[in-house]
Amino acid sequence: MAVSTRFDGLPEVRFDLLSDQCHQCESVVSMRIGYGWDSHEFQPGVPLKIGGVELPFGKGLAGHSDGDVLLHAITDALLGAVAAGDIGSYFPPSDPKWKGADSAIFLAEALKQVQRAGYRIANVDSTLILSEPKIGPHAKKIQQRVAELLGINLGQVGIKAKTPEGMGTENAVIAHVAVLLEKL
Ligand code: MG
Repeated sequence: MAVSTRFDGLPEVRFDLLSDQCHQCESVVSMRIGYGWDSHEFQPGVPLKIGGVELPFGKGLAGHSDGDVLLHAITDALLGAVAAGDIGSYFPPSDPKWKGADSAIFLAEALKQVQRAGYRIANVDSTLILSEPKIGPHAKKIQQRVAELLGINLGQVGIKAKTPEGMGTENAVIAHVAVLLEKL
């Protein structure tokens, strides 16, 4: 707002509309959305890790790393939100270095890219699609671990699960993740 004197001597109050509009534009571009998804097939003889938590189950997920389908989807969502590539461009499955790796390493790199771009996480929402095991009894623990790995509060992490009705994907776990970032 600016105050000046009109030609007839009365005060003129002038609102700088352009500045207001630009301010609004800035608040729009100060948020970014990201989306990621992943799927891994069940494999006997390996531990089942979802969201950084080992779940008691007779089989785990096949994959070059520890097969943590949820952490992989969150990693891709974060990288996508800041247009910084995808998980494979940082940790190629062809590199033996990542065999059996803890997927928390991948997530930490994505978080670093988010911070480097000048953003922080507003919230993360996820949906797991799997026929078994039931996620409900473990959802709180997964939520706590994901929040801890991302350095955010419980209320910023959504963990949901559905069974794959009619999809024919009973031998796999699928994860979908959306993230919202805000400018620091
Ligand atoms: Mg994966």
